[in-house]
Amino acid sequence: MLTDQFNRVHNYLRISLTDKCNLRCAYCNPVDLPRGYFKGSARMTAGEIEQIVAVFVTQGVKKIRLTGGEPLVRKDAGEIIQRISKYPVELAISTNAVLVDKYIDVFKDAGIQSVNVSLDSLTREKFFAITRRDEFNRILDNIYLLLQNKFHVKINVVVMKNVNDDELNDFIAWTKHLPVHIRFIEFMPFAGNDWSREKVFSYQEMLAVIATQYKFLKLQDAKHDTDKKYLVPGYEGTFAVISTMSQPFCSGCNRMRLTTDGKMKNCLFSKTEVDILGALRSGVDIAPLIQQCVWDKEKALGGQFTPYDENFDASSISNRRMINIGG
Ligand code: SAM
Repeated sequence: MLTDQFNRVHNYLRISLTDKCNLRCAYCNPVDLPRGYFKGSARMTAGEIEQIVAVFVTQGVKKIRLTGGEPLVRKDAGEIIQRISKYPVELAISTNAVLVDKYIDVFKDAGIQSVNVSLDSLTREKFFAITRRDEFNRILDNIYLLLQNKFHVKINVVVMKNVNDDELNDFIAWTKHLPVHIRFIEFMPFAGNDWSREKVFSYQEMLAVIATQYKFLKLQDAKHDTDKKYLVPGYEGTFAVISTMSQPFCSGCNRMRLTTDGKMKNCLFSKTEVDILGALRSGVDIAPLIQQCVWDKEKALGGQFTPYDENFDASSISNRRMINIGG
């Protein structure tokens, strides 16, 4: 069992397959960045990913999410999904859905049941302004394809002040006849993403806007949930807020991350990384490294900031860009 100094048991691993993406969201992968930083032998191969997964499973991992970058742009994504599906874990994926139609059978064969899709706007024009790619219609079609094929679909919306905060109630309206779970995410600071507190549209602000049009009920959240869930009575879908910046949920955290270059991070905001891939390639037993990495986890937010620190300077954060971590 992977336990840290605060008695948190860690059984959920998120693996970044690539730091390439077919969208160019300004807050994550701006157009001026090279297309993927880790290439060739800098990246874990499919076989190495499987070897590392096998060790994590012996350490008690029960859930694995594949992410990126955009995991489905990796040419051997199908092989990796198929390899991991042999292990006794719940397998899930986060994707922008641009390529989902090409992988729907792979998902089914692998027993994937839940797919997280990013979608920051319900208008084609604003979607293009945020992502710099004209993929809105293809993504919508793929969301409907996932639903037709009985996948549980969660839609991730990064809410930013004066960018898309005017669309909260449009997303809720969308759930009237569509059984999707919308997750409004507070904008988080990473290297090079031009974050400032003024751009964060907070949990409380979101609820206040939604309350202007809807009556909603609080749903029960599970211990490790990152989202605070709500239901508009009579609606097929639900919604939630991921309040990392205003009300972090670190006390229930059970997550670990593996970057595409094989570095383990014990928190999205951790300053430190452990070189799991380098150790594996040198023939070193990686289990003790994984255990130590979890043990060393900070109590909250990587020890880098606190929710209400007015003097917090995002440029002081020591971390990768989100695209190079894996969201
Ligand atoms: N390409 C996949 C996708 O679109 O879901 C997986 C990677 S993406 C980095 C994972 C999630 O992180 C997306 O929902 C994205 O919007 C979110 N994200 C990226 N940067 C963020 C930030 N600064 N604050 C909050 N969420 C962010």
